[in-house]
Amino acid sequence: MSTFSARVEVAIARIRADVAHVHAELPRHGLVSWTDGSVSARVPGADLFVIKPSGVAYAELAPENMVLCTLDAGIVDGTPGGDGSLPIDVAMHAAIYRHVPEAGALAHTHSPYATAWATRAEAIPCATTAMAREFGGPVPVVTASPVDAESLGRAVAATLAEQRSRVVLVPNTGPFAIGTDARDAVRLVVLTEDVARTVQLARQDGALSTLDQSVIDALFGGAHGAARGGEPRLLAHAAGSGSGQVGRARTPRKPQPNTAPQGPTGP
Ligand SMILES: [Zn+2]
Repeated sequence: MSTFSARVEVAIARIRADVAHVHAELPRHGLVSWTDGSVSARVPGADLFVIKPSGVAYAELAPENMVLCTLDAGIVDGTPGGDGSLPIDVAMHAAIYRHVPEAGALAHTHSPYATAWATRAEAIPCATTAMAREFGGPVPVVTASPVDAESLGRAVAATLAEQRSRVVLVPNTGPFAIGTDARDAVRLVVLTEDVARTVQLARQDGALSTLDQSVIDALFGGAHGAARGGEPRLLAHAAGSGSGQVGRARTPRKPQPNTAPQGPTGP
């Protein structure tokens, strides 16, 4: 049985609801098969995140069956959803939260076009003005083994520091979108599949015409403010988010119980 401060309990309840409800967007946009795909979100003010359980139909996802996890990917005992099983990719989610303190939420799918680029270990080139405005460059591939979550977390952090895209392709796995919140992360994986499909279709029938860097810079700067045009967008967002409670590459630890005895209060 874990107990948290009243403030953290309120945050957990809100994040459970956010994560449960936003999952509906994944089948709606044709990004997932069966119970595949996972969205998670960090609990502000705590070393915790909430993630979708494994094997539960999308129509049955609810705040009370979301799983509360520590940053080392362990289930917090005695909390709603704690008897569920975790998605196979939970270790990757946890590693990214450990290494990317600005990550407020993550969305991961095996959507076909984006995963095809990931399976070729090929970055999606920046070839449309819409992509330039949103991603500010290519959607990069991280160089990491898909079975070593810790190295993946490090690789994602390094890639985000060098690229504007807040989505990375994990080789042979698929896209991971790093959002400020769950809806933002899901929006990013939806847009990623869209650009992955468009650029793939364009390339099938001829040479791809990519955009010059100066044009990409101008479009991205115009969309996100000229002063922030050169910054990784996640960092620009996170600067004012107030959720930077977790230091970069900090050692994961168990949640600290509050002194007042208090049972878990599920929504
Ligand atoms: Zn996966």
